[in-house]
Amino acid sequence: MKIWAHSADSHFLEPEDLWHDILPPDLAARMPRSEPDGDDGEIVHVDGQSFRRKLPRYMTKRDGEGLTIWERGHRPPGARDVTARLVDLNSEGIWGEVMYPSLGMWSHLVRDRELSKAAARGQNEWLLSEVQAAAPDRLVPVAHVPLLDLDDAAAEVEHAASIGLHAVGLPTGVPSAIPDYQFEDWDPLWGLAEEAGMVIGFHVGTDGGDTVKVRGPGGAIFNYVETTYGAQRAVTKLVAGGALDRHPRLKVLVSEGGATWVPFLGDRMEEACRQHGMFVRPALSRPPKEILYSQVYASFQHDESAPAASWAMGYRNVTWGSDYPHLEGTFGHTQDTLHSLFDGIGQDVRYRITRGAFEEMFPHVSAPPLSDEFDLQAGVSA
Ligand code: MN
Repeated sequence: MKIWAHSADSHFLEPEDLWHDILPPDLAARMPRSEPDGDDGEIVHVDGQSFRRKLPRYMTKRDGEGLTIWERGHRPPGARDVTARLVDLNSEGIWGEVMYPSLGMWSHLVRDRELSKAAARGQNEWLLSEVQAAAPDRLVPVAHVPLLDLDDAAAEVEHAASIGLHAVGLPTGVPSAIPDYQFEDWDPLWGLAEEAGMVIGFHVGTDGGDTVKVRGPGGAIFNYVETTYGAQRAVTKLVAGGALDRHPRLKVLVSEGGATWVPFLGDRMEEACRQHGMFVRPALSRPPKEILYSQVYASFQHDESAPAASWAMGYRNVTWGSDYPHLEGTFGHTQDTLHSLFDGIGQDVRYRITRGAFEEMFPHVSAPPLSDEFDLQAGVSA
């Protein structure tokens, strides 16, 4: 049986010449671009800053002689091509997708306010016409917001909603130019997103700065684990600072950060209120765990413990994510992953994780096909 799932964590690779297509040449030259560095890295240049990062090596899994073997594979065909992408998704069993940018993820490092505004505006119009329009009932690209000024940010949320985008991407770490997420300065933006039904998407690993926190023994594991903490901090600020309490219809998605951290944080915040209540400001009108469980959604791709957050810990907003087309993702083994996660687990839990929670965030997304019989081309818009 083919399991169909929505993905609350996917990415689109922008065309190399995106900025020159959507911005005047002098502005385009200052936007993020990448150049190869050796055979395992790239140098990213953004508005006068440069940093090196390791490039993912694409691996595919095959089973041989009782062993699972990972071998060097290739980038999925639809990484940059939206039509090819829908063919990939149909064959993998992925239906709706929240899509984060790739190179555009570095846009928040731009330090010039006018450039930041122009880039976000251009990207959002491009995302609408060149990405979302290919399958508006399936593809949910997240809008960019300029983050050097909160009035600019709120204005772009309003614009993105008005043209028909359904989610806003924010980094887990705010740039130093603006107040952090626990402050009321953000309320106009939260109010606009809430009113428009736009989901706030945080992708892990967007704290800003060097992603290598620790070198030497254990570095690879430590740094990978470390990428998830920033999103937990951002969500804790939104709950504890009262933003989600004041905007009870606002929904927040944390992509690629696993799911069991949510029950952990819920317990911890309840304990803070119970044992340290005399210090808690602002007072919340609902218990923090209730706010967290009802307004925060979390996506995981492989974590074998994640479904238990839903059926054993009462956290119902667990969603799945393919992380297509990234190295950490499930491309090439999506069905193996979905079967290993959900075989033997109740249908209601599987439905909630693969479909229900996602459709609650994005009610405009259509239902996946019922079975394997689906024509692989049928989901591709002409
Ligand atoms: Mn991802």
